[in-house]
Amino acid sequence: MNKVVLITGSAQGIGEAIAYRFAKEGYDVILNDYFNYDKIALVEENIAQKYFVKVKGYKADISNETEVQTMLKDAISFFGKIDVLINNAGIVTDLPIEDRELSMFEATIRNNLTGTYIISKEISKYMKKGSIINISSTNGIDTVYPTSIDYDASKAGIISLTKNFAILLAPNISVNSIAPGWVNTEMNKQLPEEFLKEEQSRILKGRFAEPEEIAGLALFLASKDGEYITGQTIRIDGGLK
Ligand code: NAD
Repeated sequence: MNKVVLITGSAQGIGEAIAYRFAKEGYDVILNDYFNYDKIALVEENIAQKYFVKVKGYKADISNETEVQTMLKDAISFFGKIDVLINNAGIVTDLPIEDRELSMFEATIRNNLTGTYIISKEISKYMKKGSIINISSTNGIDTVYPTSIDYDASKAGIISLTKNFAILLAPNISVNSIAPGWVNTEMNKQLPEEFLKEEQSRILKGRFAEPEEIAGLALFLASKDGEYITGQTIRIDGGLK
């Protein structure tokens, strides 16, 4: 029986790349998205045609407890189990603090942090052995930007959730975070060209990561070789200064 992975926010970007990488490795794949759900069908089709594993997409907002419960119930009855959860879904808005309403801060925390909490708690009812991998960010550690103050706080919070869930779910479930630096995805497309060039010059590798490089680390953490790692946050930032 194949292992089963659930990847939140997998209609595009890093989540989509993770879905392909795990499918290539023989995992059955549960896809999820909310804001870009209309793109899921294409990812589903690509996986089914290329890798011949079971795949199904779910529309659910990870910060809505009822939607998460419904998705997990259906996924468990369809796939039989879930071995790996990748908490990848996230949103960001870049704005100066004077233009920020309180509701924006609350919405980002609810989406990124509360969402990760809800699904991690809910899945532990079904997952008896396996791995949870949270996609945090170096913004949650030390590459902080006041224009994304809410996002940075949500990503720091995810690192804290990682440590707590690692304790709660020990010894059979490993819980870790990946903290990418800059990655080439839609998320950064709206940022000014000048700013992106300047950021690139701060990276020892001289370029942004490709989503597939983040997927490779996720696969390692979920594998037998990564099993003894838990409660950790692993940077993958090309040497961002
Ligand atoms: P992206 O915007 O391309 O993809 C994120 C996906 O998550 C979107 O399809 C979106 O609809 C989905 N999503 C957001 N909130 C959701 C919710 N509540 N429920 C279900 N789906 C939801 O972004 P990406 O660059 O692929 O980012 C993926 C993850 O990696 C995010 O958590 C992001 O914070 C993190 N990250 C990205 C970078 C980067 O430079 N791109 C760097 C560090 C960390």
